[in-house]
Formats: sequence, structure tokens, C-alpha cells
Amino acid sequence: MRPGEVFIVGAGPGDPELITLKALRRIREADVILYDRLANEELLQYAKPGAELVYCGKAPGAHSMPQKQINRKLAVYALEGKTVVRLKGGDPFIFGRGGEEALELAAQGIPCEVIPGVTSAVGAAASAGIPLTHRGLSASVAFVTGKRCQDSEAPPRWDLLAQAVDTLVIYMGVGKLAEIRAELLRHGKPDSTPVALIERGTTASQRVVTGTLANIHKLAESTKVMNPALIVVGEVAKVREQLLALQTEADLRIG
Ligand code: SAH
Repeated sequence: MRPGEVFIVGAGPGDPELITLKALRRIREADVILYDRLANEELLQYAKPGAELVYCGKAPGAHSMPQKQINRKLAVYALEGKTVVRLKGGDPFIFGRGGEEALELAAQGIPCEVIPGVTSAVGAAASAGIPLTHRGLSASVAFVTGKRCQDSEAPPRWDLLAQAVDTLVIYMGVGKLAEIRAELLRHGKPDSTPVALIERGTTASQRVVTGTLANIHKLAESTKVMNPALIVVGEVAKVREQLLALQTEADLRIG
């Protein structure tokens, strides 16, 4: 039997309307959907009747399904001839382990297509009124992880990032905010640098906390910012305040 195809699909940053038409079509056509915690579950309503829905995220108090097991499941379903959707939050190739899944499938000769999604940095920044690049304020942006999967992995080069990049968006970083802040200050970022924390970006429960490198760790603690959240560091974070000040006049919608 010919193996079925696997689609590694980006679900977008949270708001279910931010998925692409192509991704939606693949969800509608799938025999099996393996979905993550960060993929909005509302999207599963588009699955065809009888489609098998497999949750791969972390249950409260438990571990998420190990990556190896996910890779194996994707292959097993495909080898049964099924059309498989691997639905992931944001974009599958941005801190999503989609690359590992694609490599594993390719190594087994299983056809696989990657469908991009709006990554949370892009979605959340837009919905918080923060342009990641902005004339005069930022000519470059870097997506950085605050967490390493294994201790053996090299940490991000905070020394270079602090100096060479205008806007930093840090994924998986709120738990390590104090450490990240200290690294950036140590490597010469001024403590007046604006910082925004965006929790559950693009969703109805989005929350944004703004401050500077001088006080953001204290603000995060007092406001109890929780995952999923992003840290945006750079002068562009203050554009949000400018937009908010003008919001009523211009009827802009910033969360
Ligand atoms: N592939 C995903 C990222 C997965 S890593 C993407 O492209 O967005 C998980 C991290 O993404 C979280 O720890 C958080 O930092 C960030 N994240 C995902 N969804 C988010 C959201 N709605 N709001 C804020 N941060 C989010």
C-alpha cells in the first residue's frame, strides 16, 4: 500500500481565524489529526466526521508525549495509508520541532508537506500594537528561545543579541525572565530599553505588561505573567503606548 501523506500544519498564534486557508483545507481532509496544546482546539471542529483526533500536548500535571513517540505515530498512521495532519501552534518550523518530524518522515520515505503558520511572535506583536520593525527604531528582529531542550545545548549568544539586533522576541522565556534580563544588561543593553510581555497573544484573554529592562522582572512577578507568553525587548515596544494614546481617536483595536 502507498503511504498516506503527512501535513505538518501551522495553526497560527491562538486566534483560530489566523489560520491559513491551506491549513484549514488540510484539517478538513485529514483522517487523523495529531494536535498540540498550543493549537487552538476550536479548529478541530473543521475535522471531517469520524476523523481520529489525537492530543499530543501536556495534560495537567503530566508530561507531554515524547517527541519520539509522536514521530512514530505519524509514521504508523501514514503507513496505514491515512492522510495525517500534525497540527502545531504558530508556525511548525519556529521552535515547533516540525523540522525533526519532517526529517524523520523523509528518512522513512513518507511524503510530507509543511504548511506555514503565523508564528506567535508575529501574531502577538501585531495584536499588541508592537511593530517588530519600525523605521527609525528597529531594522532587525531576532526570534530567540529562552529555554534549551538539553543542558548540553549552547545557550543563545546574549552578548551578540544584545548588541547586534534591534528587536528581540523571546519564546519560552517568562520563567527565565530575571536571568535573561541580567544577561542583556550585562552585555550592554541600557536599562531604559522598553520591554513588553504578551500573554496568550491574539486570544480573547490576551494580556500585555509593559516596562523596561530596569523593572520588567518585578512587573512580571507582581502581575503573575504565565505561559504561553513572549518577551519583546526593544524600542518598538513603546509604539504600543503611542498607539494606545491615539486609540480612541482613530478607533484602532489593540488588545
Ligand atoms: N511554534 C510556535 C512556538 C512554540 S514554542 C510558534 O510559532 O509560535 C512555545 C512558546 O511560544 C511559548 O512558550 C510562548 O513563548 C510562545 N507562544 C505560543 N503561543 C503564544 C501566544 N498565543 N501568546 C504568547 N506566546 C505564545
